[in-house]
Amino acid sequence: MSDCLFCKIIEKKIPAKIVHEDDQTLAFDDINPQAPVHTLIIPKKHVVAVEDCKDQGLLAHLLVTCTKIAKQKGLTESGYRIVTNTGRDSGQTVFHLHLHVLGGRHMTWPPG
Ligand code: 5GP
Ligand code: ZN
Repeated sequence: MSDCLFCKIIEKKIPAKIVHEDDQTLAFDDINPQAPVHTLIIPKKHVVAVEDCKDQGLLAHLLVTCTKIAKQKGLTESGYRIVTNTGRDSGQTVFHLHLHVLGGRHMTWPPG
């Protein structure tokens, strides 16, 4: 997708602080962190949101990658939150599937 921000990050046309890359996924720190650790995990294939991703193996791989990022960032013991927004009511702003890994501070529930 030529006009997709995250596709441009995948293509390295826009810089990002990349913390993990493999054949299917890319992970980079959020530009506007909402917690001491705030990393985004995305598929390299352009997919808008979870419901548009027909590849269940890829969805599983994204989740496992989140746990690896959490471990890499030292969050495994303290805990962390995995969030993915879908559509208008969720507040999704970038329409390329991404999982947020947030941690490093205590979080409240319910989310805003
Ligand atoms: P959403 O609101 O769609 O769930 O999350 C989009 C996320 O992308 C936001 O947390 C926002 O800060 C982040 N973001 C937007 N533009 C950029 C960018 O150019 N670089 C990085 N690293 N993150 C971005
Ligand atoms: Zn994209």
